[in-house]
Amino acid sequence: MQPFGETIFATMSAAAAKHNAINLGQGFPDTDGPPRMLEIAQREIARGNNQYAPGKGVEVLRSAVADSRGVGTEEVLITVGATEAISATVLGLVEPGSEVIVFDPYYDAYAAAIALAGAQRVSVPLRQVDRTWDLNTAAFAAAITDRTSMVIINSPHNPTGSVFSRAALEEFARICVAHDLTVLSDEVYEHLIFEGNQHTRINELPGMKSRTVTSSSAAKSYNATGWKTGWAIAEPALLDGVIKAKQFMTYVGATPFQPAVAHAIHNERAWLRRMVDSLAVGKNILADGLRNAGLKVYDTAGTYFIVADVSPLGFDDGTDYCMGLPELQGVAAIPLAGFSDHKETWKPLVRFAFCKRHDVLREASERLAQTPLFRL
Ligand code: PMP
Ligand code: GLN
Repeated sequence: MQPFGETIFATMSAAAAKHNAINLGQGFPDTDGPPRMLEIAQREIARGNNQYAPGKGVEVLRSAVADSRGVGTEEVLITVGATEAISATVLGLVEPGSEVIVFDPYYDAYAAAIALAGAQRVSVPLRQVDRTWDLNTAAFAAAITDRTSMVIINSPHNPTGSVFSRAALEEFARICVAHDLTVLSDEVYEHLIFEGNQHTRINELPGMKSRTVTSSSAAKSYNATGWKTGWAIAEPALLDGVIKAKQFMTYVGATPFQPAVAHAIHNERAWLRRMVDSLAVGKNILADGLRNAGLKVYDTAGTYFIVADVSPLGFDDGTDYCMGLPELQGVAAIPLAGFSDHKETWKPLVRFAFCKRHDVLREASERLAQTPLFRL
């Protein structure tokens, strides 16, 4: 792990705290999840449900996840957030010395999991299409070698806020089948989709079910990033390797949160719809604020994130911009270079999170506009 430093999220959240800045860097909401879900977790603690959960997770949550995805309970493993589902999948299914393809820019935990597994990361840049990004399936096909064992895909996509097109995902699936690849599909933002865009479940595409592990969690759907309650979904033959790794990482996740999340999955669809509607309003408030402050704003189809180009402000480097922003303007954001092996491609781009109260987003917009940070 020697090449790995502190994560960009920890660095930018610490800078935000130091300068009392509005933290639009690390993606976490500033409002709570469904009240009944919170009550159930409290009730579970009060009634003494505080010891180890079963190895694969509490049955009521496994079956809630299974029902919501149209799979069998035996296909669901409860994990410590999507993060553990990701690392257990890579550690459990990838052999040392093999190659794992990621689409660049990518969530930083993928690189760490690949390194821990002793495998090689091969990163394939996304393709810009108008004011968003999509898979470059030709570049993906060209990156496959006889050592490729897994590909990690994430749509809706962090950090770009893009939702990959159905056509590109179908082509992606055909390529995976032709090359007999195992796929890790990180779908933590599966419900955070805006304005008529559609989420495609990779495991439902032809030929994909037996080769796909899907990871997701309660963090983004129910405003519970601190609960670290997630899951991996796959057919038993594939899930077995994930279970074997997971059981020695944490053995099990926190017990009392699991019945609470099961409640949310079964009963809080209306809450989720309202939350996503409110997020869409927040997205537009922040997009207007960023445009008003002089940045060039890209489209967001899903997730918590807007990408903006800071070059109209005279910056050619988003990292420089983000380093000064908390102190000089009282706002924190994350440079896209922090998610990339092709840093030049993404250099002037910055990610802003809009999963905050609307008054907070208006205040951030005012701060960004009042004393624009110009590189002289
Ligand atoms: N994948 C992506 C793309 C993410 O943005 C995050 C961060 N929330 C995770 C995985 C990790 O999710 P969790 O907090 O449930 O571990
Ligand atoms: N997923 C969140 C983000 O991308 C938080 C990640 C983290 O703090 N590790 O901002």
